[in-house]
Amino acid sequence: GEVAIETDVIIIGGGPGGYAAAIRLGQLGKSVVLIEKDKLGGVCLNRGCIPSKALIHTADQFHRLNDFEKMGIQLPQEKTAVDLNVWQDWKKGIISQLNQGISHLCKENGVTVVKGQATFLSDDRIGVETDGDFETYKFEHAIIATGSRPFIPSFLNVDGRYILDSTTSLQLKEVPPSLSIIGGGYIGIEMGMAFAKLGTQVTIIEMANRILPQVADNLVKEVIRNAKKLGINLKTSTRVEKAIVEDGQVHLHVFSEKHGTEVIVSEKTLVTIGRIPNTQEIGLNQAGIAVDEKDYIAVDTECRTNVPHIFAIGDTTPGPALAHRASKQGIVAAEVIGGLPSAIDSTFVPYVIFSDPQIAGVGFSREEAEQQGYSVKTGKFPFSANGRALATNETEGFAEVIVDAKSHILLGMHMVGADASNLIGEGVLALELSARVEDIALSMHPHPTLTEGWMEAAEAVLGHAIHIV
Ligand code: FAD
Repeated sequence: GEVAIETDVIIIGGGPGGYAAAIRLGQLGKSVVLIEKDKLGGVCLNRGCIPSKALIHTADQFHRLNDFEKMGIQLPQEKTAVDLNVWQDWKKGIISQLNQGISHLCKENGVTVVKGQATFLSDDRIGVETDGDFETYKFEHAIIATGSRPFIPSFLNVDGRYILDSTTSLQLKEVPPSLSIIGGGYIGIEMGMAFAKLGTQVTIIEMANRILPQVADNLVKEVIRNAKKLGINLKTSTRVEKAIVEDGQVHLHVFSEKHGTEVIVSEKTLVTIGRIPNTQEIGLNQAGIAVDEKDYIAVDTECRTNVPHIFAIGDTTPGPALAHRASKQGIVAAEVIGGLPSAIDSTFVPYVIFSDPQIAGVGFSREEAEQQGYSVKTGKFPFSANGRALATNETEGFAEVIVDAKSHILLGMHMVGADASNLIGEGVLALELSARVEDIALSMHPHPTLTEGWMEAAEAVLGHAIHIV
């Protein structure tokens, strides 16, 4: 029977979706309460994008020492090594700096951040539990941004010591001698290649007939080649059936048509076979909010749920579980609540895989474009013919543009190669502007840079690339 605290908007979850929405609402003059039970920044900052990229960078730097000799760089004779204990401190520093940044931005924009666990009590009230205390908030609008967590099949017991999920795999204080990874999706590949570079003997087990099954074949080929070079054992078309921890080792019982049942023994196992939305324990029923058969909250282009004054964003909604999509949806929901015309166009959500080489893309693959009924032209440029790539010892991969043969409008831009993650920005802009392939081909691209790869791939569509025949 206590009095509810009133606010224009309440946001549940302070990940990249929730905090972006909160800041945008603050800018629009709304009173906002942002409820986060753990830490601002969500999965992305605390146990996802940022720490994983810090690990991948470290592993990459270490691995590059192998090429120093041919460039004339002399290393000390002692054996080099990576101390993950020290690395953990570095990681914590990065996270804490970004954490404070978000706190500061929330404060400056008038956002009230409350630490606690939120549940819907009705379609206009939320209860928040903080250290045993319970407060009730009454809202005009709410945004659900509770994110997702790793999916763990029931036969695996993630103990954080022998069997890890992505979170605990980023908390290791020592490089494990061996690691088996269940799941060859992007997180499995990113982590697997990183640990392999740090000196771990890595095995990746994937049920589909190749790793990264969602990504176009020609891009993934380059990564498979490198994974093998790193000594990673790729076991595709293989199913894990059982995991037994014995004598300080994990024994994974796997099955494939080709080899029957086998046992893979390793110090640790990382489970990364997908994620599930955090939508079960937040009282959606009390607010009348519907979920689909996989527990995702369906939303329209304004991010509204079936209850029009309640919105959902990020990993709780169907679509790719990516931080930039969550943030964009958060901004859209905030603007709609703020009375601005705003909507999300999900056609051009870029994707990046921090494998080696990196893969990044936006728009349709060739197959997807053809399925859509387009008659397609493609142009491709290999980095082995790019001067900068040679000068930085990063010649693997290529840029590819996919074009509607009739209008020459770009339908997709994809890349596998060093720094593809940064280079895809040009592709996103081009597709958003409905650029034609001539727009890329005729734009002067700086030399010597990897961006010339896009220009030459575009020229190749038009039949006049300078540096390939
Ligand atoms: P989340 O980041 O999951 O945040 C949700 C927040 O809500 C959490 O902080 C949680 O504590 C809080 N919460 C949940 N329930 C409640 C409640 N009842 N009350 C109060 N608070 C609650 N994406 C990329 O785009 N690029 C990458 O390189 C990338 N790498 C990744 C690497 C790994 C290892 C992982 C696991 C993920 C990665 N992702 C990456 C995905 C990215 O982290 C997510 O898509 C993103 O974090 C989703 O944002 P969100 O705001 O929807 O939710």
